[in-house]
Amino acid sequence: MQTDAPPPDRASGLTDAEARARLARHGPNRLERGRKISPLRILLRQFTGFLVLILIVAAGIALALGERIDALAIGLVVVLNGILGFVQEWRAETALDALGRMMASAARVLRDGEERLIDTEDLVPGDVVIIEPGDRVPADLNLDAAAHLKVDESALTGESVPVAKAAGERLFMGTTVVAGRAEGVVAATGAATEFGQIATLTGAVGTKTTHLQRQLGRLARQMGLAALAVAALIGGLGVATGRPPVEMFMTALSLAVALVPEGLPAVVTITLALGAHAMVRQRALARRLQAVETLGAASVICTDKTGTLTEDRMTATRIVMADRAYEVSGTGYDPAGHIAGHAGRVRAADDAGLAALLETALICNHARLVRRGGQWQMVGEPTEGALVTLAYKGWAPLPDRDVAEAELPFSSDRKRMSVLARGPDGHILHTKGAPEPVLDRCSHVWIEGAPVPLGAAMRRQLDREYEEMAADGLRVIALARRVQSNDTLPHDEAGLCFLGFVGLIDPPRPEVAPAIRAARAAGIRVIVITGDAALTAQAIARQVGLNVAQVIRGEALDAMDDDGLRVALTGDVLFARTAPAQKLRIVTALQDQSQIVAMTGDGVNDAPALKKADIGVAMGERGTDVARDAADLVLLDDNFATIVRAIREGRRQYENVRKFVRYLLSSNAGEVVALVVNLILGGPLIFLATQILWMNLVTDGLTAVALGLEKSTPGQMERPPRPRSQPILGRGGLLTILVFGSYTGAASLWVFYTLLPMGEGLARSAAFTAMMIFEKVSVFAFRSLHLPCSRIGWVSNPLLLGALAITLGAQVAAIYWPPLQTLLQTQALGWTEWWMILMLALPLVLVPEVVKALISWRSARS
Ligand code: ATP
Repeated sequence: MQTDAPPPDRASGLTDAEARARLARHGPNRLERGRKISPLRILLRQFTGFLVLILIVAAGIALALGERIDALAIGLVVVLNGILGFVQEWRAETALDALGRMMASAARVLRDGEERLIDTEDLVPGDVVIIEPGDRVPADLNLDAAAHLKVDESALTGESVPVAKAAGERLFMGTTVVAGRAEGVVAATGAATEFGQIATLTGAVGTKTTHLQRQLGRLARQMGLAALAVAALIGGLGVATGRPPVEMFMTALSLAVALVPEGLPAVVTITLALGAHAMVRQRALARRLQAVETLGAASVICTDKTGTLTEDRMTATRIVMADRAYEVSGTGYDPAGHIAGHAGRVRAADDAGLAALLETALICNHARLVRRGGQWQMVGEPTEGALVTLAYKGWAPLPDRDVAEAELPFSSDRKRMSVLARGPDGHILHTKGAPEPVLDRCSHVWIEGAPVPLGAAMRRQLDREYEEMAADGLRVIALARRVQSNDTLPHDEAGLCFLGFVGLIDPPRPEVAPAIRAARAAGIRVIVITGDAALTAQAIARQVGLNVAQVIRGEALDAMDDDGLRVALTGDVLFARTAPAQKLRIVTALQDQSQIVAMTGDGVNDAPALKKADIGVAMGERGTDVARDAADLVLLDDNFATIVRAIREGRRQYENVRKFVRYLLSSNAGEVVALVVNLILGGPLIFLATQILWMNLVTDGLTAVALGLEKSTPGQMERPPRPRSQPILGRGGLLTILVFGSYTGAASLWVFYTLLPMGEGLARSAAFTAMMIFEKVSVFAFRSLHLPCSRIGWVSNPLLLGALAITLGAQVAAIYWPPLQTLLQTQALGWTEWWMILMLALPLVLVPEVVKALISWRSARS
């Protein structure tokens, strides 16, 4: 076991060099992620499926019966299928693995005297770590300082009630911080931690099967069983009517193979996994494959405001005190700017009220400005960073770091924070927070350098000032303080003296307005749920193009019954001054109305709502570990526009799944029609078992995967979201399968019987090639469910063209290359046969094209 490292210099943390040395000694701070799947295992997995096992048995039987060629052919098909399956699954696996690696979290440490965010894996014993609510404790820590720290240790102990921790106690890796702040020194990392010793981390991505996968898996199993039953029946009938048993066994086997959409579940997984990987390029990380699939059905997005709709780059622009107001110039965290009143620039030294306000703003603060390479950077929370920048602009003296003795931390529920600090004559409680809770606790107001009782008229005036600032879209922070004779931290701040308001601008992100228009066009509603003030939120909503007909504040929401909430949720509503717990109620109410809800969140208390939502969306940059763990989707750039892009991607993927399900099933239907009708007609076998296996296993999967990579069709984001209950196939789908199956089945029978007089071998080779060509060319009809290829572009999916070229090349080899000729028992075709096949294949491309063109022309007209 690792021993605790000697304590480093607490004020500056480890030096970089020392950290590197310790990293080399102790190794990275990680627990081995579940078992990594080896390539060999993936390869072997290809040969364990139910169907493949049947095939292997069939090959054995064929061998025992002396049918060496058949046995070899089946064996080859199984091997080829295994290799293709392996390549695809390996790609999916590496894609998922890459996603897993991206989910690594960061820890806030003190190194070389600077506060830094580092990869959790780089933590070493001796590092000084700063912990905030929502953080997952990154290693075992000995607490140096703790303010109202509460930790959820359920991951370790199973006990779900958070426990309080004080300085001197130990924090364990894997537990989560629910409230408070703390600083501690890393005592053990990686496998040496408590958690590492008793558990292995299983948090790998996307291993859960999705609803869609389960649905399709069930479909495949049902079809498998049906296939076996039908095959047994037909085989039995054949033998009973005097056909040779070996031939009937092979027919029954081919029928079974023809009926089962073998590749389906694998193709779905591969499509979803590759899709999830592609989404990262759109800055959205799917934590579960479900997310991708469900996203396409989202009908409501509930979004917060700060950082998602806005940039979360706060700048203080206005200071309003009871008896005066100032404007502030400059942008961002660069302190080049001034505070100015009517009479010109002011500094803290010129105005005692301003000096007190800035001092409180600095003491109630954890942010810092640092200058790197000539650029000012802010470390900490943007609201607090803006206040530090403001204090720099007012030339306020920076308070001594250790005047602060205790803290009541900020939380989205309390909407304020307080710090108890030593003052010149006793102690001062400094408070900063949202205006409502702060003003409610003020009994005095600072006027002309002294506290005077806060009367009703002054309260009204302050409320008006606050409303005016909020209506301009400013985020308003109130600052207040109280002198107290003792050094006990009160539970609830009361009797404060109001110092002033600071108005911060947080401009809307430029991409949000177009994203909101896109969501509206796609029939997706956007509801803002914010902790900020109603007027501020409304102003921002207006700026990004959202209609707001009704604003409901947190207290009004509490007073509202479920029916009232349901009615409100049918209109254009905005929720302001909400507490995170209220999000859960809103999600539930929306889900009761059969909506599919995407909900954003970033704090600890958002986790229940994120779990409950159909798609919980957490923030990659701003969010806490707890929120990320609860979410299905993580926005790497915290941007609302990314949610809309991810929905577009989800819709694309779901549509593609529907396309290849139809495609694969209609290919199989054609083979079944040909086999069954032929059996009824009493002719010789139309396809050999090995030929069917070739079609279904070797060539179909590749085309289907390429179909899964089809780009999104135009107009995809102009349709309303699909209903929750929409089946994968539906009546339209079944009809399509029936029509395609009947045509391709009939056409290949026609080829077979027309050529039969010229020899069974030639007729069978031609029917086999015909079916294969029909299946390949009909893929164009499935590239879009609604639009003709002339609209989406014939060559817009190069991968599909590549897959077609490969499979057609394989078919040419199958009938001209002697070894394959022997295996598949084929003969070379002449021009006449090819001509016949191509003529029959043409309608499969042209008819759907014309039908779709007519339909889209008609719907465009109406
Ligand atoms: P959203 O929920 O849309 O992200 P938000 O960030 O404003 O909005 P909260 O974090 O719950 O929501 O903040 C609520 C209010 O608390 C803010 O409007 C602000 O007035 C105040 N506030 C925010 N951050 C701090 C802070 N660090 N210290 C004190 N008060 C704060």
